[in-house]
Amino acid sequence: MSVYVFGHKSPDTDSVAAAIAFAALNKAKGEDYVPVMQGKPNPETEMVLKHFGLPTPEEMTDATDKKLALVDHSDLAQAPDNLSKGELVAIVDHHKVGDVTTNSPILYCAMPVGCSCTVLKSMYDQAGVKPEAKVAGVMLAAILSDTVNFKSPTCTEADKKAVAELKAIAGVTDTDALFMEMLKAKSAVEGVPAMDLLHRDYKDFDMNGKKVGVGQLELATLDQVANMRDALYDAMKQQKGSERHSVLLMLTDVVKEGTDLMVLSDDPALIEKAFNAKLSGNSMWIDGMMSRKKQTIPNLQKAFGC
Ligand code: MG
Ligand code: MG
Ligand code: MG
Repeated sequence: MSVYVFGHKSPDTDSVAAAIAFAALNKAKGEDYVPVMQGKPNPETEMVLKHFGLPTPEEMTDATDKKLALVDHSDLAQAPDNLSKGELVAIVDHHKVGDVTTNSPILYCAMPVGCSCTVLKSMYDQAGVKPEAKVAGVMLAAILSDTVNFKSPTCTEADKKAVAELKAIAGVTDTDALFMEMLKAKSAVEGVPAMDLLHRDYKDFDMNGKKVGVGQLELATLDQVANMRDALYDAMKQQKGSERHSVLLMLTDVVKEGTDLMVLSDDPALIEKAFNAKLSGNSMWIDGMMSRKKQTIPNLQKAFGC
């Protein structure tokens, strides 16, 4: 029986690359693992898969009657549907421990590093297995993506070391050039519906019983969305409905290293307090804010009293 390796909902490059890498590592050990993804690849992931010549993993969203592994998450909200009707055998992650539970012992490998593929690199090393060049390529691309080319505060020495070793295997000479190519693909917004942009990298969080959605768009410049702000705000309104307390959209300027945070909330003052900033219109600039996981979410959790 195959083990399906699932990344999280709203797949990002790490969740797809980690699924591919974990499946390949187990295949190298003679086991039947298949990478899948819960949705379509985002433009960056699409570019990365094409660049390294790997096929797009099959789409799958339901765990019923399946053996499965999770990568890049351990939150039920981000996991495949009907998780309890499947048999979870492994989790590989680099986030805080989520709310997924199991009845049997499983392989659980998590490290406080910038990317799931950095965790996987150490699992390859431990197993004495060298990833195939294509797989090494998508792993290193995932690390560049998650660490924003080493600029994110989530980046660790282990991430840098993994990239240095993976680039030799993948035959990549210039990781800055690869990152710029990824950034261009990722930040392409023209002609994309606002709701799709909001969901490009979007997650719902439980904040002390309140549902808060946070999306992030990484941009080469804020000018890219200058004409789309009203449409994005409308999409946030539609997303918020009555079930969410707040919907935030991080417009992250990767070059200036900061985020213009768009805010739609039942309590805007609470969001201002969370970031020690003042809204002007429906957004506020927060210098140095690049990481949803390490900066945005912890500040929100503090403000919501989690
Ligand atoms: Mg991810
Ligand atoms: Mg990740
Ligand atoms: Mg990410």
